[in-house]
Amino acid sequence: MKKEVKELAERIAEKEGKEVDEVIDTIKEKEKEYSGLISFEGAAHIVAKDCGLELIDDDSTSLKIENVVSGMNSATVAAKIESIFGPREFKTDKGEGKVANLILKDETGTIRFSLWNEEVDKLIEEEKIVVGDTIMIENGYVTEDNRGQPEIRLGRSGKLKETDVEIDVEISPGGSSPDGYTRTYIEDLTPGENTEIRGTVVNVFGDSPFYKKCPECDKKVEGDKCEEHDEVQVNMALSIVVDDGTDSIRSVFFRDEVEKLLGIDTEEAWEMTEEGKNMDEFVDLCEELIGNEIIIQGRVKINDFFGRPEVIANTSEEVDLKKEVKKVLKSM
Ligand SMILES: [Zn+2]
Repeated sequence: MKKEVKELAERIAEKEGKEVDEVIDTIKEKEKEYSGLISFEGAAHIVAKDCGLELIDDDSTSLKIENVVSGMNSATVAAKIESIFGPREFKTDKGEGKVANLILKDETGTIRFSLWNEEVDKLIEEEKIVVGDTIMIENGYVTEDNRGQPEIRLGRSGKLKETDVEIDVEISPGGSSPDGYTRTYIEDLTPGENTEIRGTVVNVFGDSPFYKKCPECDKKVEGDKCEEHDEVQVNMALSIVVDDGTDSIRSVFFRDEVEKLLGIDTEEAWEMTEEGKNMDEFVDLCEELIGNEIIIQGRVKINDFFGRPEVIANTSEEVDLKKEVKKVLKSM
């Protein structure tokens, strides 16, 4: 066990009046609860937060980006700003507003951080924060973005601060852009990076694509409806295995990307399968993808539960052979 984690466990034990071993068991349980999505160290920080231990002024206690998972409601993270997208204005039934999306980076990866309305006015438009700054988010909450990846928001209790914490990462001058994906062979993929792969679909796991979440709070719904908001939304996620000749990798697609890939709406799929009870036709549809060549852009992440890397797909397209042939002919 790392020295810092042991010290943290001792502090928790002292605060709670428990034995250190007891605290370590609690941390192990917390780690299990997240199904291997976080490290032991990450779990220790959550337990510390849960018991109200004040960690925020201590550099070593902010979370590494790889340990930030959706559902946390008090995450403290120090990171560099790699890019800022927006602000853009939007209109919904509930009114209008402004949003800016930031990509934050540390030694372990990148994560999206979104700012809303007055936060945008105060921080982005007055240029209080710019690309390359190191910032500390205290007590932010973590939701899931529309691609199923964790996204930090400030919310009511979150605070943004300047910090002296050293984050040892390079920020490229242009930052990363949504198109800034580099084509990489599967055997050379690096966890935490945005990447583009091209390969053949060799397997699709289409037998249980549905999961339910609450459209209000974004939390996973286990029963019929979110207990707090009485709402539910059915979503799809699909794993496919792609092989490019150097290696194969599992790639995970969420809602919109699954719809695009299969050419079917989530609602249609939900109906077609009799609410997930009759999967035959859906599985057939998935299997039509096998043998097709596909280009996937996404982020490489280690799935700790299975201990192997996977690509979380942001976008994908089937290889248009005519287009690729034209490209080759043009270059001759
Ligand atoms: Zn809810």
